[in-house]
Amino acid sequence: MEGQQQRFCQKCGHFQLLSAFVGLKRTCQMALDQHNERRRDKQKRKRGQAWLGPSGNGDGGGGAWAGRQQQQQQQQK
Ligand SMILES: [Zn+2]
Repeated sequence: MEGQQQRFCQKCGHFQLLSAFVGLKRTCQMALDQHNERRRDKQKRKRGQAWLGPSGNGDGGGGAWAGRQQQQQQQQK
């Protein structure tokens, strides 16, 4: 009886009530929501870093900054 009302949540690592799941998913809705929120946070942070400047060499638009960093590395060697 109890086994039918609970399902193992792969995200939380323990059994949870069926009411916590949506459809036939093996991850409870709470965990999915948290995962989505983290994704949004990461996307926001990535955009924020892009605004801060060339330190995150993702855009390839470093320009003068990239040149300075390369010179410093050569001097250190
Ligand atoms: Zn869960």
